[in-house]
Amino acid sequence: MSALAGHPHYQKFAVRVARSRIDGYGVFAAEPIAQRRKIGEIRGESIPVAEARRRAATQARIMIVEVSTKRAIDASRSSDPMRFTNHSCAPNARLAIRDGRIEFYALRAIAPGEELTVDYGETHHEGRLACRCGAPGCVGRL
Ligand SMILES: [Zn+2]
Repeated sequence: MSALAGHPHYQKFAVRVARSRIDGYGVFAAEPIAQRRKIGEIRGESIPVAEARRRAATQARIMIVEVSTKRAIDASRSSDPMRFTNHSCAPNARLAIRDGRIEFYALRAIAPGEELTVDYGETHHEGRLACRCGAPGCVGRL
C-alpha cells in the first residue's frame, strides 16, 4: 500500500492531519518533500466572490480562497487534507492560485513530521484573529 492510498490524485505527497500547536488541526508531512515540489491542492465548491464574502461574514471557521476577481473556492465541505494547512509568518510552503485551482508548493525541503504552513497574507479574518504561529517576526494577527 502506498502512503498516498486514500488521497486524491492531485495530492502529490503523503500528509497526515493531526492536532496542531498553531491552531486546531494542521497538516503534517508523512514523507520527505523536496524543495519547490507541488505538495497538493484544495478543491471545493466554486462560488461567486460576493457569495464568498457573505459566507465569510457568517462563518466562524473560514475555508474560502478567492481564486480570481470573480470566483472563490469554499473548501468547507472538501475532504482534501491540505484545507487544514495553517498560517505561519515563517512558512515552509506557499499557496499558488493557478487556473482557478489552489495549489501548494514546498518553499524548502520538508522532513516527515513537520507541519506544513503557508503565509495566507490578507485573509477574510481582516486582522481580527490572533496569529499563534510562534515564528520570529510573527505579525501577531490574521
Ligand atoms: Zn504569526
